[in-house]
Amino acid sequence: MPFELPALPFAENALEPHVSARTLGFHHGKHHQTYVTNLNNLTEGSPLASATLEDVIRETAGDASRAGVFNNGAQVWNHGFYWQSLTPGGGGAPRGELAERLEDGFGSLDAFRSAFKEAAVTQFGSGWAWLVAENGALKVTKTGNADTPLAHGQTPLITCDVWEHAYYLDYQNRRPDYVDAFLDNLVNWDFASENLTRV
Ligand code: MN
Repeated sequence: MPFELPALPFAENALEPHVSARTLGFHHGKHHQTYVTNLNNLTEGSPLASATLEDVIRETAGDASRAGVFNNGAQVWNHGFYWQSLTPGGGGAPRGELAERLEDGFGSLDAFRSAFKEAAVTQFGSGWAWLVAENGALKVTKTGNADTPLAHGQTPLITCDVWEHAYYLDYQNRRPDYVDAFLDNLVNWDFASENLTRV
């Protein structure tokens, strides 16, 4: 069974006006699909063709001779995780245990928000901002290009794609405005809370 493009968990226009249907059409239908196609081409006939995405990532991380497989596999996984990190009517303050853990870890929800925005805005070039759990603590991290917390023993709770293809049609060079929209209107805290229960 080849790797497949997961369906978006919402309609293409469901995140408007914050992320347009045009952006999602290209981002999911072209960019994410291309990573899936590349991964299938690169793994065809090898044992990795029947592995899970997580195993593809862990097995090829740090192996320069298989950088293409890692990059495409990680991008397939990262994008699937990103779609789930978004929801219509999302954003704002998390609640419950997640809120308590963020307050404990960062001092306040505002301090967490500032740390996440800082990571997303300062990732130089293409990459991702993340909230992860590592050794029982919640941390904000950023990764370049396809790199992913799965390759570093961390458990991702939420991610924001900061590749230009994620926001350029809607925000052009204004990445900080896109990150604000992510945090204020889109981030799926229920998904983060579910992930926290598996840490
Ligand atoms: Mn992307």
